[in-house]
Amino acid sequence: MPELPEVETVRRGIAPVLEGGRIERAQILDSRLVRPFDPGIVAGELVGERVAAVERRGKYLIVRFESGRVLLIHLRMTGSLRHARHGALAEDPHTRAVLTLDNGSDVAYRDVRRFGTWELLESSEVRPFFEQRLGPEPLGSLSAERLGRRLAGRRAPLKSALLDQRTVAGLGNIYVDEALWHGRLHPRREAGSLDVEELRRLHRAVRKVLRLGIERQGSTLRDYVAPDGGYGTMQDEFRAYGRSGEPCDRCGDPLERIVVGGRGTTYCPRCQVNGAPAQG
Ligand SMILES: [Zn+2]
Repeated sequence: MPELPEVETVRRGIAPVLEGGRIERAQILDSRLVRPFDPGIVAGELVGERVAAVERRGKYLIVRFESGRVLLIHLRMTGSLRHARHGALAEDPHTRAVLTLDNGSDVAYRDVRRFGTWELLESSEVRPFFEQRLGPEPLGSLSAERLGRRLAGRRAPLKSALLDQRTVAGLGNIYVDEALWHGRLHPRREAGSLDVEELRRLHRAVRKVLRLGIERQGSTLRDYVAPDGGYGTMQDEFRAYGRSGEPCDRCGDPLERIVVGGRGTTYCPRCQVNGAPAQG
């Protein structure tokens, strides 16, 4: 599943194509994408909109129109965007939507597993939408103190608390495992029990792995492909995720796989010592 660095990579790839373009034609080929709304009506609403900016918040892509309206795209498991000169997009059975722009480009949304969503919001709806769903941007103004306030009093395992998008936005299974390894924190540690030094380590580690992920243009795993067809290389930087049984890069002991809050989790039992275990 694309996480913050993968979505940011998609944003950087697609922004130059979309920005400034006016949608001349919109086809929504899969009604699941805009459920519960009618795909024909949503497509009709998109026609005539001119893209002012393509932004990102957490794992959401934000296509901001000059009218003030916003199209929120969530890639979920397998969503991706591609673009080509008008009429030059390759035939693809997994294409769920196509936007034809007045700048000569077509942009296609592709999704094998069809969990992705497109939501068209009026400008007044955008702020409440995010306030309900997302915590602060980890690469924005988030400080260690603020992260500590988000975790305070929480009995859940640290890993589960970090996967909760209301704690901080944009983290998923990959970058949480990576951040906990860098921060030397046990995934089952009770989220509210970190001391100031541990919070600083976690804060630093979260930002470090996300920045590295963006620098490496995300990770390439199964269905995820960047919009230009290129591949990210973050998987070469993984210290924990998907490496159970391999030696820890810090201490040499084998990494171990456990299940935390229902999610497969890889960590180093020697470096990531559990202080106060949480339930789960
Ligand atoms: Zn280790």
